[in-house]
Amino acid sequence: MPAPRPKLPPAPQRVPLLMAELERLYPEVRIALNFDTPFQLLVATILSAQCTDVQVNKVTPALFARFPTAEAMAAATVNQIIPYVKSVGFFRTKAKNLHGMATILVRDHGGRVPASQDELVKLPGVGRKTANVVLGDGFGITGITVDTHVGRLSRRLGLTRHTDPVKVEMVLNSLIPQAEWTRFSHRLIYHGRQVCHARKPKCGDCTLRPLCPQVGVVRSSNPQVVTTTAVRPVPGTKSVSDSGST
Ligand code: SF4
Repeated sequence: MPAPRPKLPPAPQRVPLLMAELERLYPEVRIALNFDTPFQLLVATILSAQCTDVQVNKVTPALFARFPTAEAMAAATVNQIIPYVKSVGFFRTKAKNLHGMATILVRDHGGRVPASQDELVKLPGVGRKTANVVLGDGFGITGITVDTHVGRLSRRLGLTRHTDPVKVEMVLNSLIPQAEWTRFSHRLIYHGRQVCHARKPKCGDCTLRPLCPQVGVVRSSNPQVVTTTAVRPVPGTKSVSDSGST
């Protein structure tokens, strides 16, 4: 039988310690997508939906060379964009969204990417998550980006019980100092990719473990051997089941 979970302080008391340990683990954080301009970041982030950043980084050099600006992309046709994005998932829809996005940038924003969430989410293929990535990494406007990793880790760490990304974002906004929103998101993503995997979190190797209630994680008597996620509610929490990660 695994040892009983120790009772941990509430989230607001653990957050400063979690932030400090995440900063120690991942002092330098940056988005994994390659880009030079806000427009390139917007394009890459639209392409990254349901696709790995590694795959997006393979297609963007040629795409950016052919369509360096919103004007160049808007002047093309969807069929001219498709060959450049064919190796990413949902490429037809994404090519259409890229063309629509560039057309609106030229028509309504002088070809520039607006530094406003309200304006960004009006663009095709841009939801709240994409908008926060562009604002945070393209303009230095901090925001919590709730992707699959941030949502999963936030629940496992007992920071929220919500599964809706917008609700997770609101809870994290209230727990994390605003200046750290973007960096905190990146650090959770790094930790989700390297340690707290969706199906087999490496709890035995995780230095966040003393601060983590491991919500939804099934533990064995030997945490080095068996740590798998499952739908397993713990008292006072809503159970969640995580799917794959990028
Ligand atoms: S202790 Fe386990 S569940 Fe908690 S953050 Fe670390 S790997 Fe994830």
